[in-house]
Amino acid sequence: TLTGKTAVITGSNSGIGLGVARELAKAGANVVLNSYTDTPEDHALAAEIADVTGVEAKYVQADMSKGADCRRLIVAAGGCDILVNNAGIQHVAPVEDFPEGKWDAIIAINMSSAFHTIAAAVTGMRERGYGRIINIASAHGLTASPYKSAYVAAKHGIVGLTKTIGLETAQDPITCNAICPGYVLTPLVESQIPDTMKEYNMSREDVIKNVMLERQPSKEFATVEQLGGTAVYLCSDAAAQVTGTTISVDGGWTAL
Ligand code: NAD
Repeated sequence: TLTGKTAVITGSNSGIGLGVARELAKAGANVVLNSYTDTPEDHALAAEIADVTGVEAKYVQADMSKGADCRRLIVAAGGCDILVNNAGIQHVAPVEDFPEGKWDAIIAINMSSAFHTIAAAVTGMRERGYGRIINIASAHGLTASPYKSAYVAAKHGIVGLTKTIGLETAQDPITCNAICPGYVLTPLVESQIPDTMKEYNMSREDVIKNVMLERQPSKEFATVEQLGGTAVYLCSDAAAQVTGTTISVDGGWTAL
């Protein structure tokens, strides 16, 4: 049980981050939700999790494209026992047309944010005598697809960061691992469908079956609950010697 532990989950007002926050809260952890917005709905999500599970939950606005905001999030949480680096965006375009601003934003949000949050959190984890760093990478942290240059580069980068932090904390009661999901039907994936339809000149149904799930041998989307369950496992004593590695939750994608 994670009772008394505090989990910070970046980018958690939606999709996988929210699913992971819900599962960690169900396992007893207090949770700090985050995104770059600061709306009543954001704070209501934290209130709802507290209501349903009885843990303490709060929402902290911080923009994961900015290093200072990443570090401020950890301070605002009062440090953390569990850090889930999940915030991420996507952009799909051939490299010659790939907007520079999108490249910079994807590298900052999907990769550099984890450097800043880990740097801010790790000393406190050593003091607390427990730490779990979980980076939400992707099957695209291990393999590539065309038109996703920034995303694939950032996700491979976060897998490299995961290994490095695993080594730096190997003799501390801290682990650092990456979860590599295949396709999960979240707003992020939903928003890629129109561009991919254009890119391949396909219907929505064909994009889902023949482009997205084409790579996923199970032919099923992974769910946010399954990813939350994987995070809960990584927080358990059973996973204390699991560090510096990746766990794929991808329906067989990377076995191909
Ligand atoms: P999503 O769009 O539902 O969630 C992304 C989250 O990041 C949102 O909460 C959003 O508000 C937040 N975010 C975006 N920019 C931010 C910023 N500047 N500062 C703070 N928060 C910010 O997408 P998702 O599918 O749940 O993606 C979550 C993570 O999972 C991402 O890192 C993504 O790359 C990864 N992932 C998703 C899939 C999938 O199929 N959905 C597969 C593999 C990996």
